[in-house]
Amino acid sequence: MNNALQTALTQLDAVSKFMKLPDDIHQTLRNFDRILTVAIPIRMDNDSIRVFTGFRVQHNGTRGPYKGGVRYHPELTLDDLKALAMEMSWKCSLVGVPFGGAKGGVICNPKELSRGELERITRRYTYAIMPIIGIEKDIPAPDVNTNEQIMSWMMDTYSMNSGYCTPGIVTGKPINIGGSLGRTDATGLGIVFTIENAIKHKKMALKGLRVVIQGYGNVGSAVGKFLDESGCKIVAVSSSKGGIYNPKGLNHTAIMKYYQEHGSFDRFPKTEPVTNASLLELPCDVLVPAAMGNQITGENAYKIKAKIIVEGANGPTTPEADQILTNRKIPVIPDILANAGGVIVSYFEWVQDVQSYFWCENEVNGRLKNLMDRSYEEVYALSKEKGTNMRTAAMAIAIKKIADAISVRGLYP
Ligand code: NAD
Repeated sequence: MNNALQTALTQLDAVSKFMKLPDDIHQTLRNFDRILTVAIPIRMDNDSIRVFTGFRVQHNGTRGPYKGGVRYHPELTLDDLKALAMEMSWKCSLVGVPFGGAKGGVICNPKELSRGELERITRRYTYAIMPIIGIEKDIPAPDVNTNEQIMSWMMDTYSMNSGYCTPGIVTGKPINIGGSLGRTDATGLGIVFTIENAIKHKKMALKGLRVVIQGYGNVGSAVGKFLDESGCKIVAVSSSKGGIYNPKGLNHTAIMKYYQEHGSFDRFPKTEPVTNASLLELPCDVLVPAAMGNQITGENAYKIKAKIIVEGANGPTTPEADQILTNRKIPVIPDILANAGGVIVSYFEWVQDVQSYFWCENEVNGRLKNLMDRSYEEVYALSKEKGTNMRTAAMAIAIKKIADAISVRGLYP
């Protein structure tokens, strides 16, 4: 078992104990409804045939159709996908989106594949998982190394095999084939709403707030854009190649332009270089890890100087680090709450596709804010009532809703 799955199960076990979850439901949630492994034979550009491996993991579908991203990565493992599918169940339940958790992917390195090879892998993978996906069954979405184009090919493959157009089969599509306005920035905007809620309780203001963002990709850069516009000071950012620091603040537009021209932040004027590890330990008000999992660990949690941590990435904090940060009274706003904006607007996209009726961006963002604010207040209230950290409170709320649904539906047959 790898780290990510071990972490997900450790968290589930601890929260189940905390909330005195009946053992049968705890065991049900430790298991997975369905796991499909598929072979994906592809004709490569040099005319050889190569067989890739793909997966679709469905964790728990008690509250609705399964929902979760598709990841393309050379080191992808089934255990990673199990952990991510489980987290999707908690996330959907917590924010009141009527879906169950899923995740899928293909072991491949998109950087070494031509566009044609990538398209053939995507289409054959979609065909292979067709028996278990569907508009009312399981709705894939983009994740690491997959994007709007991959979603378009998935939607087209499913539609051609169905004999009619099925926009609701995936989310994260381009607008002109049924995508939703506001989807691109939804995760980042949701994180900004979360930061606003978190600082409100600490009597801090956005103006002049010092923020460090690890990973300035889709999520991190959207957070940076909105916070810079709101008068925060983005003091450090990074990519996989390293980061930059300026305690006086960085201009979002200028660093993005520089990154697009140079492919890294290295030597951006009037900044100090920082490694991804040292960036986490910089003095700041809010730290947003928005890159990979397992970044804040038992080793560096003692050295963190941030007043609040808001998890943009999935699983950036290990259970040991969580314990240390709780003891140090540094609140960690957990991923299943902080980065839920993406799945919330994915749900809105699916609702719009099913109804064939599309909303304006203000409506999407307003509804997103309502769900994010309501979820935050619920988690905060429970954490205060029970004297627990925000992750335990968030998971307890999420798991209780699924447990209640399992109880009321009963056991078939
Ligand atoms: P992305 O690929 O657009 O950006 C990731 C960023 O992290 C890039 O700047 C990359 O250079 C950097 N990075 C990669 N490896 C790194 C490393 N080892 N150390 C430091 N930086 C590194 O990805 P994204 O869509 O922004 O997703 C980031 C995280 O947010 C992931 O954990 C993802 O699962 C999570 N997430 C994304 C969404 C979404 O809507 N995109 C929703 C929920 C959660």
